[in-house]
Amino acid sequence: MTNSLLAPAPAPAPLPAHALPDRAARSVTPYPRGHPAFLVVLDADSTLIRDEVIELLADAAGSRAHVAAITEAAMRGELDFAESLRERVGTLAGLPVSVFADVGRLIRKTPGVHELIDGLHANGSRVGVVSGGFHELLDPLAAELGLDHWRANRLEVRDGFLTGGLVGPIIDALAKADALTEWALADGVPLARTVAVGDGANDLEMMKVAGLAVAFNAKPRVKREADVVIDALDLSQVLPLLGLRG
Ligand SMILES: [Mg+2]
Repeated sequence: MTNSLLAPAPAPAPLPAHALPDRAARSVTPYPRGHPAFLVVLDADSTLIRDEVIELLADAAGSRAHVAAITEAAMRGELDFAESLRERVGTLAGLPVSVFADVGRLIRKTPGVHELIDGLHANGSRVGVVSGGFHELLDPLAAELGLDHWRANRLEVRDGFLTGGLVGPIIDALAKADALTEWALADGVPLARTVAVGDGANDLEMMKVAGLAVAFNAKPRVKREADVVIDALDLSQVLPLLGLRG
């Protein structure tokens, strides 16, 4: 009779190429007591939320088709982000500031976002959102979600109406990477324990500096450059990547 205990153990199934990225493997070191375990930085449009906020604003301005075509090309990396943002924002000139409340009601949060943020906070980790969209719409969401950090562009308003311009620095791909680096330093989290989650070409720079780069329902180019690809519409799937669930 064969003793199954003596039978050779089956060879472990090889991990899929994306399951254990080198950068993530290197990051598995004990973290100093008193510091957050991880810093997870998410993109906003089509990541934290299911919408592209500029398209919702453009809807109100009657320029949605034009703006959506530019957004799509910009997220594929075919256009300079800042230039394309200025062109899209230009179409919003004349909208009343009441559009922020109207559009705020239309925004659909991505499934799993509360579970992700609660799971990270329960583990003592921090969560940031950096957006090529706008503070006027991100601020209420940040408060509701309990984000630790957030940064976005600002729309110029004069006499209660959008001018079609922007004020302050443009949040492009490099500014997103800078935000992740700044927040990591402020939180005392080494870059090896940072995670960037995004879907578009303007997320690629922050994905390069992060310890783990996650493509979330992303454009093909972003998937190719990420360490891990999530194609399900469920942000809580980031938790098991960090050993925080299942
Ligand atoms: Mg996006």
